[in-house]
Amino acid sequence: MEQLLQINELSVDFQTPNGSLNAINKVSLQMGRGEVVCLVGESGSGKTITSLSIMRLIDYSKGKIVQGDITLDGNSLVGLSQKEISQLRGKKIAMIFQEPMTALDPVFTIGFQISEVILRHQKVSKLKAKEEAIQLLRRVGIPEPEMRYNQYPYELSGGMRQRAMIAIALACGPELLIADEPTTALDVTIQAQILNLLQELRKELGMSILLITHDLGIAAEMADRVVVMYAGQIVEQSKTLPLFEQPHHPYTQGLLRSIITLEQDRSARLYTIDGAIPSLTALPSGCRFHPRCPYATERCRAEEPALESIDDREVACWHASELQQNDHPLRLAAEQRER
Ligand code: SF4
Repeated sequence: MEQLLQINELSVDFQTPNGSLNAINKVSLQMGRGEVVCLVGESGSGKTITSLSIMRLIDYSKGKIVQGDITLDGNSLVGLSQKEISQLRGKKIAMIFQEPMTALDPVFTIGFQISEVILRHQKVSKLKAKEEAIQLLRRVGIPEPEMRYNQYPYELSGGMRQRAMIAIALACGPELLIADEPTTALDVTIQAQILNLLQELRKELGMSILLITHDLGIAAEMADRVVVMYAGQIVEQSKTLPLFEQPHHPYTQGLLRSIITLEQDRSARLYTIDGAIPSLTALPSGCRFHPRCPYATERCRAEEPALESIDDREVACWHASELQQNDHPLRLAAEQRER
């Protein structure tokens, strides 16, 4: 598969009144053209910072890329000026957010906001831009697009607002669409419609999608590959099916065990991962997951594991290979503690 996006050893720091805070640490990932990659993890794992770094939007919130590189189509994005990067936004990369009401401008009509993007990036007349905007509204499944063109965001339902956001994102045919929890604020039926729409558009336009979600069900449904983040680092990345069939990292295993299924014994206690994600101002030594990991050893507490190729994936865990054996002493001891 032809490579589109490459992130190499990316680290981002934020300046706070208490000093510098490392929000993501040596994050590396690749995306092929037309591929859907899901970034998953709890709140505070660094998913959104990673995506905002690609858009270079962290520059507006006291964030700074302190190490690493991001290339799109072989061209580095890190050294670009704000003028250069704003030309790329919308044209090559577009983003949709969780709550479109905050991303859409409430004082302009939906049609105006789509036309404006078209006019900014294409040399077309206002009439042509309007025709294209109506066509886009139709394509994303908004009924009566001519009428909706003249409506304001508050006049649309939540699902329609998200469709309108997608229309704006598509206005200049981006090669990469970043979707940050695009369905979290929607009810389940609308959620499924929006996800189907994204799948259709991906096939139709050959666009790559970086989907950020905390919902593993969505990742299983949508992703070609899944990247699991924890406390600012990637801990596991793999093709979707192997990751769900046999998660290697204890954090991924915990996330999957936390999913509620219909077959589950309703009298049994729901599984949760003990503890909470650490504050970035007080990260634990060694493996960042060790205070919550049932298999943590002295080595885990002292040394930080790097992401390494194991079997068909990459995992950052000292004991990932051994833990694949059901009768390994670390597993048996953890199971005994759980009983
Ligand atoms: Fe658990 Fe150790 Fe692996 Fe970290 S390195 S996930 S603490 S077993």
